[in-house]
Amino acid sequence: MAVESHTQKKPFITNTGVTSYGIATNKSHFGIGTEEILLDDVECTGEEDSILECPNEGWKINDCGRVREIAGVKCSDEVTHVTLNVTVSLHDGSFEGEGRVEVTRGDETGSVCDDYWDYKDANVVCKMLGYSVGISVKNAGYGSSTGPILLDNVQCQGSESNIYDCVHEGWGNSNCGHAEDAGVICGTERVTKKARIELVGGKSGKEGRVEMIYGGVRGTLCSQQFDDTKATIISPDVDKFTIEHLKYGGQTVVNILTKLINLIFKTVAVPNNLKIGIGCPLFKNGGKPKEDPNSYRRITITSAIGKTIEKLHLSRNKSSIKNQQSRLQKGFTEGESPTVAGLVVTELRIEAKEKRLPIYIGLTDAKKAFDIVWHAGLFREMHKMNISGDNWLLFRAWYEDLTTKVKWEGNYSRGFKEKQGVRQGGVWSPTAYKVFINSLLKIYEENKIGSYIGSIYCGAPTVADDVTLIANDPYELQTMINIQMDHANKFRYSISEQKSCVLKIGDKSEHSWYMNDQKLNTPINATHLGIKRDINSKFGVKEVVPDRIQTARKTVYALMGAGLYGLNGINPKVSVHMIKCFVIPRLLYGLDIIRLTKTDIAKLSVYYIQLLKQIQHLPSRTANSAVLVLTGQLPIESEIHKKMLSLFRNIADNHGSVERSIAQRQLALKTRDSESWFIQIIKLTEMYELPSPIEVLDLVPEKHIWKKLVYNAVNDYWKNILILEARTKVSMKMLNVDNFKVGVVHNIWESSGSELLSVKRACVKAKIISGTYTLQADRAKFNGNRTSSLCPLCFKQSEDLMHFLIKCNSLEGVRRKFIMLLRNLLNDKINALLVDDLFNFEDNLLQLIVDCTKFQFLKQLWTTIERLSSSLCFGLHQKRTSLLL
Ligand SMILES: [Zn+2]
Repeated sequence: MAVESHTQKKPFITNTGVTSYGIATNKSHFGIGTEEILLDDVECTGEEDSILECPNEGWKINDCGRVREIAGVKCSDEVTHVTLNVTVSLHDGSFEGEGRVEVTRGDETGSVCDDYWDYKDANVVCKMLGYSVGISVKNAGYGSSTGPILLDNVQCQGSESNIYDCVHEGWGNSNCGHAEDAGVICGTERVTKKARIELVGGKSGKEGRVEMIYGGVRGTLCSQQFDDTKATIISPDVDKFTIEHLKYGGQTVVNILTKLINLIFKTVAVPNNLKIGIGCPLFKNGGKPKEDPNSYRRITITSAIGKTIEKLHLSRNKSSIKNQQSRLQKGFTEGESPTVAGLVVTELRIEAKEKRLPIYIGLTDAKKAFDIVWHAGLFREMHKMNISGDNWLLFRAWYEDLTTKVKWEGNYSRGFKEKQGVRQGGVWSPTAYKVFINSLLKIYEENKIGSYIGSIYCGAPTVADDVTLIANDPYELQTMINIQMDHANKFRYSISEQKSCVLKIGDKSEHSWYMNDQKLNTPINATHLGIKRDINSKFGVKEVVPDRIQTARKTVYALMGAGLYGLNGINPKVSVHMIKCFVIPRLLYGLDIIRLTKTDIAKLSVYYIQLLKQIQHLPSRTANSAVLVLTGQLPIESEIHKKMLSLFRNIADNHGSVERSIAQRQLALKTRDSESWFIQIIKLTEMYELPSPIEVLDLVPEKHIWKKLVYNAVNDYWKNILILEARTKVSMKMLNVDNFKVGVVHNIWESSGSELLSVKRACVKAKIISGTYTLQADRAKFNGNRTSSLCPLCFKQSEDLMHFLIKCNSLEGVRRKFIMLLRNLLNDKINALLVDDLFNFEDNLLQLIVDCTKFQFLKQLWTTIERLSSSLCFGLHQKRTSLLL
């Protein structure tokens, strides 16, 4: 494919460009280098996503070959870098996923104006950065940029993959000041524990940040851009081939790659260029010294074509490996969930307790496990897993002469050969590691060493390199440790005795375990797969809930910069959304696979309700049901139950898995008073009148059907409880609960805008509606009538809500105007008789003002009525306050 280079702005791929992709050396070997010219006279503006979008002469129509022979026009074969897209970065946030948005195109970096800036725009920015959702922050919430303002009036649909694709005023066109710099807070709705590497915002091999996303947290690797100005370029830049080429390159790229890849598979030889990686040191954090090389983890960035080949090769062998891998390996495998390894530990512990057996949990730590994998050993293990013939040869070819260059402060080192380790960042790496460690798990399994649940072997639940050793006999655990040490010696890796420990549960006697002749620690608690297990409490996880609440608090604190708590007048509707996206996943992480006590649930509830009160500015005495009804939320327990029930379906669906076997056994054998996690599932399905777990095991429902079933059942259950509870509260008698819909905020928040004043008005209204707006009558009641209940303004009547909102003469001036507006509004829209009914009966008028959603026939007007009535209430409130001063 040839592209004539008319201007500097053109994106292009050249036919010789294929050669300069880093496959050059193999040109003759593989016969690559199609001379066919596919595109010509390409006129790009530089803003296209794909070269195919540029106007051109048409597919395979060109005069380039001819012209080249004659003279005059030069078909460029030099690689010119062209900026197609815009990249984004976040600045001055308190954590990684937040900050002022800055956009970069070419050499230009600047901020974005916040006009029309909303969650849709934030979503696009956050997705560009690898997060799933985002929230917008306006008014330079993260400070002002010093650069130019490059985008203005950005209005995204939310589905764009680049902010530049959204509607805006054009690059550099803005009438804003820096006080309007836009920001975002990004978050994931679900915390995934799977690491992935991404080229972010990259549009060519020369730009784009390489980032790693792990557990919802992202880290930037090689934070400098790949600004190789020198001619010597290395992978992934060496081939000038990027993820974007794959994405947008269209048929041309597919054709070329297919040829190349087929040749690689046919000849079982991998061009060395594809094997060059860039090693990037990633600071591990956690207070480690920056000058110690051990504080850095190496991530290797590999070529995009190489990745594609690895992926293809892996997909050919994946099922064969899955069939042979230990049932206790829960990491990096499709259909397996790492959290299940935690569930096995939970269940083993309960099992031991109910059998009055001690249990010993050995948490061992393989030193730099991925980095020191012994290649020859790995090849042998691959072969043992039935990867043979060309498949095996290709795998070996991939690992032979693997070269890495280190990038540090923008400079590259000389390349060095990698003789050991699987690259963190390689496509094959996690699976290769699983294969490498599999023989260890098999030794335990085949020799039946370690704990069982019934006849189901559970002694070594594992997530990737995280092998947990569990036994009910102290000597057996020592044997397990010895076996692991032996395996480590044979396979040339080592286990850290300092970082390994044993949790000794249900055994008061003295026992010691040894590793490398060193006595292992036996602490009272230790963290395993993100869950702190202790040795003394009822279910062994008493620290988990306080930990989660602590984490949630930190998250909320970080979100305050974006206005959570309404510091800059954010509508609680938005705050609830933020909490759902950012706080809840962290608050509930892992709680579905442990056994919680009533105290745990109570702690979570208290925290959650208090948070919902804070975002609505409601006093702490507000009834829980009011807090929930106003925000459209259910008690936090319901969320945990949903997670548990959905996990159970996944377990049932994982045929042949350990967890499914455990489920079958426990459901059949355990009595109702058992503490087993699976008995809790029985109780939940009964509580929600769902199909029994046995039925689910028998016939596993489709994921989306089960999800819907569970959501409806759980939501209905709690909704009914909530409504019943709300109805019994006299203080909340004006709050209409019949309209309560899970996930939908009450009309007072729905109708309120996001301007400070309108939120303030709605806040007064929220107090009135929830019965926490204090009037003289309430004071009298609290004081056992030692205080007078007489209105402090007119001294004519007891000051209750009716008096304050409708009757008190002292406030008539404020009231008259709004009542008139309200009446005019209704007169225009509805039957005069109905209007009379509403205004002539005090009870009706009071209800209309406090919560108009009681009147279904006004549904079309709820928003307008709410705005007027909240202005009325706020006006009365201000007048009353000023009169009492
Ligand atoms: Zn009065």
